Order: sequence, then structure tokens, then C-alpha cells
Amino acid sequence: MNNIVAIVGRPNVGKSTLFNRLIQRREAIVDSVSGVTRDRNYGKSEWNGKEFSVIDTGGYVRGSDDVFEGEIRKQVELAIDEADVIIFVVDVEEGITPMDETVAKLLRKVTKPVLLAVNKVDNAMREKDAVEFYNLGLGDYYTFASISGSGTGDLLDALIEAFPEKPEVEVKEDLPRFAVVGRPNAGKSSFINALIGQDRYIVTDIAGTTRDAIDTKFDRFGFEFNLVDTAGIRRKAKVKEDLEFYSVMRSVRAIEHADVCILVIDATRGFEGQDQSIFWLAEKNRKGVVILVNKWDLVEKDTMSSRDYEEKIRKELMPFTDVPILFVSALTKQRLLKALEATVQVFENRKQRISTSKFNEYMLKVIEAYPPPAMKGKYVKIKYCMQLPTQTPQFVFFANLPQYVKEPYKRYLENKIRDNWDFAGVPIDIYIREK
Ligand code: GDP
Repeated sequence: MNNIVAIVGRPNVGKSTLFNRLIQRREAIVDSVSGVTRDRNYGKSEWNGKEFSVIDTGGYVRGSDDVFEGEIRKQVELAIDEADVIIFVVDVEEGITPMDETVAKLLRKVTKPVLLAVNKVDNAMREKDAVEFYNLGLGDYYTFASISGSGTGDLLDALIEAFPEKPEVEVKEDLPRFAVVGRPNAGKSSFINALIGQDRYIVTDIAGTTRDAIDTKFDRFGFEFNLVDTAGIRRKAKVKEDLEFYSVMRSVRAIEHADVCILVIDATRGFEGQDQSIFWLAEKNRKGVVILVNKWDLVEKDTMSSRDYEEKIRKELMPFTDVPILFVSALTKQRLLKALEATVQVFENRKQRISTSKFNEYMLKVIEAYPPPAMKGKYVKIKYCMQLPTQTPQFVFFANLPQYVKEPYKRYLENKIRDNWDFAGVPIDIYIREK
């Protein structure tokens, strides 16, 4: 599992510039595949072959300098709870401000690695000025300039160095892992409790995941899986989650840890920004997704049919539109078993392997029927394709001129794959490579 890095600091010190720099390379690739950028505050990065996740905690406590100290405090406490390593960004131009002191005070108590990163250090003079940051009591610091990128290499080296040695704790049984995610009060706990019913479930404390979402081994209705419960964490948390960002950030670890995410939304509120952020977080991580429109018992069926409701959600999911959407009630237990079945189906979809011969047989016909459009008078030929032996469904098509195969055609291929095989709820990657 990836280490999680949180960037903290008061507004306008350059957190988002650093964040963008860290995720840049990776993100460019991801975006060219999906054609969209969704979340500006969470991304994947990689340095020296180590992949990690980055969260810009400033993303939602944005803008003005008069952000309340309380907000910063929450931001930092959340980072302390959720991240493996914290990067604390300060600004050499401004020197130490009272708010920096506040942050430093919180961070001094932390046992997790904290990297103090002094931004805007782009000349020797400022290199000298940076010395004052020793006064924050956080030990050594790293100087950099987020605009030009100078110094970020050293910072990244230190970051990788600081990652905790995680004993690769493999979950013993190879059970599917389902994460129940969603905004506060959507009904996650109610859903889990309703499923568990009278049976006392077995809480398996898997070593090494103590800080993680609570893992519950679940064996009911003939299904066996681990539930990654984010609702439980919130209960313990000291931070009151009144900002959108918090439920999103709380979901990061659970989502990264899961095979399929059960996104619970509140029918009376609709598919809101925060729900969408969590959805795209799952999509970005190439996890399976099932959407449960909960509290359906509260919706006046005369004014809103499930079909209309579903259509509205699907519009927001474009182009990833074949996600199962179920209308449930944790209260009346309506369709909960269906929800579980759908989740298991998505899990199966995600791990299915299509044999190379079957795949070619179907896809080459599809390609012949509608070949990639010629570019600059040249014809693109695809002669061979296959599913890669990866964790999530990925398909590669070998072409003579791969650079001429553009996004719309990849979309066509993806649609054809989805037409013929059931990948509902599962993100797919399509690659075109030179033969
Ligand atoms: P969580 O924060 O996502 O875990 O949400 P909870 O499970 O704590 O539920 C929040 C509130 O919504 C509680 O008061 C529940 O009783 C209520 N609730 C949850 N599911 C349903 C439902 O299906 N129907 C109705 N009417 N209320 C629900």
C-alpha cells in the first residue's frame, strides 16, 4: 500500500505549487487516459520508483490570510491522523509568522516524520535567511523553490527516506476488500449495522493496520469479505468534520486499501460535490465502485422516480457511466442484499481475465469494422491486442503508429470491451503500443 504524504502550512506559502509539482508527471499520464482532472487536492506521485499519495490539505482551507487559526489547527490534526509523513511548508520571504508557530507547536508533538520545507529559497541570501526556521524547533529543514522546482529533488529524497518501514502485512485470507465510504451522515454505519444484523460479527484486528480503517471480516448470505469501515474512524476522531474535505481525506486510506468502494450517498441531498470527490478518488485509484442511494425511504416517489434520479447521477459520472447505482434504505433494509450482490459482482468484474485468443477474436473484428481514422495520409493498423496481467483491467493494443490513435478511438475500444464483457463499476485502462 502507498504511503500517504500530507502537505500542511498556512495559506499562500506555496503548498499547492509544491503539490502540483509532485503529482505533475504522474498526473499528466492519468489525465491523458481519462481526459479529465477532477481532484486538485489529491494525487499520486513517484520518486525513485516509490509510489506515494499526496494530499494538499490547504485545498479546502483556501485563499485569504485571515483563515482562522482553528481551521489550520484542524487541517494539521487531520494530517497527523491520516498521513504517514507530513511536509510543513513555510515561506522564507515572510519568515516565521504566528500561524507557523501554531502549526509547529502541533507538529512538535507528533511521532510521525515531519519535513520542514522552506519555500522561495532561490538565492544564496535567502539560503542564509532560512536559518531562522531552526527556531520552529523541528530540527533540520529543506530549502526549495516551488516555482522553479529547485531543491525539490533533495526534499523528495528525504521524503522517501522518511517513509516508515511497513512490514508488508498481507491480509491472510485473500478475501475481497470492500470499503464503505461517503460523507458524514449518509448512513454508512447504519448500512453496516443493518447488514450485520443480529449476528455479532468478528472484528479481526489485522496487525499493522491499527491506524487504518477498521477491518471487519464479514461472512453472511454466502458472501465472505472484509469490510473497510470508515464510519467507525470518524467516531473516534477528535476532529469534527464540518468541512467537505475531511470526509474525502478520511476516505483516502480506506479507498487505497480496497478492491471495491461502496459509496453511500444521502438520497435527500443528492450526489453532491463531496460525494463526487470521493467517487473520483476511487476512480483515480482504479477501484471498483458501487453507488448506494440511501434513505430512499424518505424520498417522495411521486416527485422523483429512481430512473430520473439515476440519470442525474450518471450525468456526473461521465464518461464512466456503467457504475451500478442502487436505491436502498438502511433503515427499512430495502435492497441491502442486492447492494451486496452488486458489490460482489463488481469485484468479480474487476478481477476477470479475458483470454488473449478470445480477446483478439472479438476485438480485431471490431477494429476491422471501424478502424482508427487515417492521420496525415497514413493508415493505422492494429494487429494484436491483449489484457495485461495486472491488478486492475488494462488492455494493450499493438499498432504500427500508436501516436495516431487518439482519445475518441480509445473510447470506442473501451465501449466495445464493455459491450462484450461485464466491466460494470470497474475503471479500465487502454494502452496503444508500438508493435
Ligand atoms: P454515517 O455518518 O454515514 O455513518 O451515517 P449514520 O449511519 O450515522 O446515519 C446518519 C443518520 O441517518 C442517522 O440518524 C440514521 O438513523 C439516519 N439513516 C441512515 N440510513 C437511513 C435510511 O435508510 N433511512 C432513513 N430514514 N434514515 C437513515
